Amino acid sequence: MKVYSLGGYEEVGRNMTALEINGKVLILDLGIRLDRVMIGEDTNIQNIPTNELDRLGAIPNVSPLKNKKVVGIVISHGHLDHIGAISRFLKKFKCPVVGRPYPLNLLSSMLKEEDSQLKYPLFEIKDSSITLDVFDISMIPVTHSIPQSSFVIVKTPEGDVVFTGDYKLDNHQELQKPISFSKLKKLDTKLLIIDSTNVAKEGITPSEKVAKMMLVDYLKMIEDSKKGIVATTFSSHSERVLSLINEAEAIGRKPVLIGKSLCKYYGLALEMGIVKKKVQMIRKRASIDTFLKEANEKKKEYLVITTGSQGEKEAVLSRMVDNKTPYSFESKDSVLFSACIIPNPLNKAARYALETKLKMRGAIIARDIHVSGHASREEHRKIIRTLSPQAVLPCHGYPDMLISMADLCYEEGYSLNDQVIVQRNGQSFTLG
Ligand SMILES: [Zn+2]
Repeated sequence: MKVYSLGGYEEVGRNMTALEINGKVLILDLGIRLDRVMIGEDTNIQNIPTNELDRLGAIPNVSPLKNKKVVGIVISHGHLDHIGAISRFLKKFKCPVVGRPYPLNLLSSMLKEEDSQLKYPLFEIKDSSITLDVFDISMIPVTHSIPQSSFVIVKTPEGDVVFTGDYKLDNHQELQKPISFSKLKKLDTKLLIIDSTNVAKEGITPSEKVAKMMLVDYLKMIEDSKKGIVATTFSSHSERVLSLINEAEAIGRKPVLIGKSLCKYYGLALEMGIVKKKVQMIRKRASIDTFLKEANEKKKEYLVITTGSQGEKEAVLSRMVDNKTPYSFESKDSVLFSACIIPNPLNKAARYALETKLKMRGAIIARDIHVSGHASREEHRKIIRTLSPQAVLPCHGYPDMLISMADLCYEEGYSLNDQVIVQRNGQSFTLG
């Protein structure tokens, strides 16, 4: 088996790994790197030409797969850094895409928006497996920060591969049960490809329930306020959006979701029965402005949930702050950031500018009502011990993160280079 490390091996973003047996290739995730193009949650990616994305280093370089027969693309979950480049390569690879229903539906709506002529099969995986040539593919659901994330299990004649995608080991999520360790224990893992983003963080990542409690406690502090309350989070984090909706109601305010991407992700989760809680959702700019005019007049009645947690220029929150909507922030209005800043200089600058403008208007800012969706060191150790793989390929990180994962494996008794393989984009190796 040959393994190609094509994206996400020098960065957080544009994730792509490929497995090759007898000239047949299976791709694991195919994402976009958002910070390279300053793509905000409400940006239309379809307006940016593929060669421009390639020039910017926003999509993986797939040239090592030239002249190979790609038999399928498997997606671990629906974040754009895992599925955002699929539409750019489907014409080239002409292959089916395999995934769980929620990420596949997200992909399907992206494909429709970007190129309605693209018609390749999307195979839904539920409980059983799907076979593409020599690869038998199944999923083990796991907790992360978007519905229906999974470990991807690929059984091959040369041994089994486990690809974690992004994950954390959370025992308290409402929308996703904890991962099944009994299923993991049954695997005979030849290669583990593992998310390295937060491996340098010691201990374990706090549960999503902790973020919910932080939100409950903060809103209790301001429940008697007659001023405006505006909250923002990652659009795709349906579990967090659900908490915001529930806790808004708990303090007697009406939650309203505004912004295209928030409505897209939560709306799909609602349509598919992943969440049950209905809420008013406003997508279009004109309707958003009409609503914000009313919300501005009756501030104490609403808790407005918007896009724009990273300070993206085109997102609703930035437009509100820049007085491009009828909502005006004033002294003692509260703005809750239920999201971290995705750590790159552009986001940091944009968020700093946004917060400064809010403070100039006298708004009270609550930052970091948030927990990460990525596992910390001890969670990774648990997965490595449970699977006891023959070899480990750290993925999804800058070099320091990949090396930190190699260090953890070393602690667990693995030898570097032959059992733990640290790669950079474009490299490949043969698994003995
Ligand atoms: Zn993710």
